Amino acid sequence: MKVLVGFPPTQSPLGTPLLSQNRQFQYFEKPTFLYPVVLGTAATMVKKAGHEVIWRDAIAEDMNWDEYDEMLEKEKPDIFLFETKAPVVKKHWKSINHMKEKFPNMKIVICGDHVSYLPRETLENSKVDYVINGGYYDFAFIDLVNWINEGKGGAPEGVWYRKDGEIVENGRFEFHKDSERDINDAPFPDRELTKYMDYQDEFNLKGRPQFYIMSARDCAWGKCTFCVWDHALYPKGAYKQRTPENTFAEVKHLVDNFGAKEIFDDAGTIPPGKWLEKFCNLMIESGYNKKVMYSCNMRFGWVDREMYKLMKGAGFRLLKYGLESGCQKTIDKLDKGVDVSKVFEHCKDAKDAGLVCHLTMMTGYPWETKNDAMKTFNLAKKLMTAGLVDIHQSTVVMPYPGTPLYEEAVREGWLRFEKDDYEKLAMDQPAMKTIEMSPEEVQGLCKLNYRIYLDPKYIWQHAKSRIKSWEDIKYTFEGLTAVFGHMRDFSRKPERKGDKELLTEEQVERMLANLHNPRQDLVAIKAGAKEPIPHRKIEEVEAKLPVVQ
Ligand code: SF4
Repeated sequence: MKVLVGFPPTQSPLGTPLLSQNRQFQYFEKPTFLYPVVLGTAATMVKKAGHEVIWRDAIAEDMNWDEYDEMLEKEKPDIFLFETKAPVVKKHWKSINHMKEKFPNMKIVICGDHVSYLPRETLENSKVDYVINGGYYDFAFIDLVNWINEGKGGAPEGVWYRKDGEIVENGRFEFHKDSERDINDAPFPDRELTKYMDYQDEFNLKGRPQFYIMSARDCAWGKCTFCVWDHALYPKGAYKQRTPENTFAEVKHLVDNFGAKEIFDDAGTIPPGKWLEKFCNLMIESGYNKKVMYSCNMRFGWVDREMYKLMKGAGFRLLKYGLESGCQKTIDKLDKGVDVSKVFEHCKDAKDAGLVCHLTMMTGYPWETKNDAMKTFNLAKKLMTAGLVDIHQSTVVMPYPGTPLYEEAVREGWLRFEKDDYEKLAMDQPAMKTIEMSPEEVQGLCKLNYRIYLDPKYIWQHAKSRIKSWEDIKYTFEGLTAVFGHMRDFSRKPERKGDKELLTEEQVERMLANLHNPRQDLVAIKAGAKEPIPHRKIEEVEAKLPVVQ
């Protein structure tokens, strides 16, 4: 069979959509295309099974519909697999209908976090042939291709479709206890087939060529209430990690065959403990710690000082931490499991070991006051000007369907738009009302956070400790261009629906009297939970807040 994998044209006047390998969707003025690891694995699995595979990513290749149609006309694929997310799902419904109109024999398969949460919706609203439910869509897709090819047996698990005009619900793809396959059976993505050179512009990574891999899907913590991948793609029980040996073998493959200079491990958080120790030792004993830089997502408090040193010795360079907020009340509400008062210490331990710290933070939480948001700004500024954090990224929190945050936002009436106005979750404007900040003020705080890069103390820290070569100057320049791009991204005018669009007094009262984590409701209704878990009262939380200057 001839199988097409990639992305259809998804243009917007708002900019270039960051669809691949992005937990948070955003339109960027200065785009970076991240390598879609699971989609790349899906293409590779199908090729290894003996099918002809074409990889065309219209976003990274900047193709318009005329060019894409021409390509489809020429290639005539039997099946097309692509990934979607909430902010562009409606656009993709139209794209599917357009393609089905012109190429009715081509089977269209869609996957991703939004359709995993609402598989039926896409079947009802478009002429799509199959929807894959779950984050192991590479495994589900090869099963589907084989099923279509052989034409016998039942539909593979996790594949939803239509039969005799009725939607057939088919669960979620899972590795069962008696399954003959596991995540280590996934092949390393075929980087040539999937055009790795189209994905080299992630400015936070220094080495070129750079590669994305995933040692786990997705994060062993998996609780943060805004995290769409860890609720819609890899919910509780679906987390799987590769062995350290299997992950190291891919590192070796990328260095030996492609001259990889930096690898970013995009597991939601790199597996900690014995796993990490083993992986570091494999890097050190093999000497690959000297051949490639390794960067990854990290959680505060996940590893200790000694482990940071071992990681540095193993070739680790950059650690990306989700700080999300400098306010403990927000951290608790998000179920982030981080002690804000320890953030300094963790960053210092990582820096002392010689690692680069990258923070991500958000603003625009419904319960967030200006004072709370300034705590985030002040903490980030203090860390950056003290030389403990090198890079930060600031965004507006988005309640993606499938997350506890979305459920709560819908239930409590926090959304600025209708609950299925998914295109409004594109981060070009806040999607939720807050206690006291207007949408413009929320965006202004994002821009303010980016201004930390222009603080003379930060510039001095950066010049003194990080500019050592021509490469570093280039890296700094790319970073600075991206910072100005982000500031422009958050300068877009939000649509206005009312005066300041704040939460009503009643909503605020309800929120403050009941500042609990929505997950607790879920725990309380679980079989075996006799007592509902009491909600934490705001005074209780406030009393524990650390003092941040
Ligand atoms: S730590 Fe990161 S990846 Fe893990 S659940 Fe929280 S936001 Fe998601």
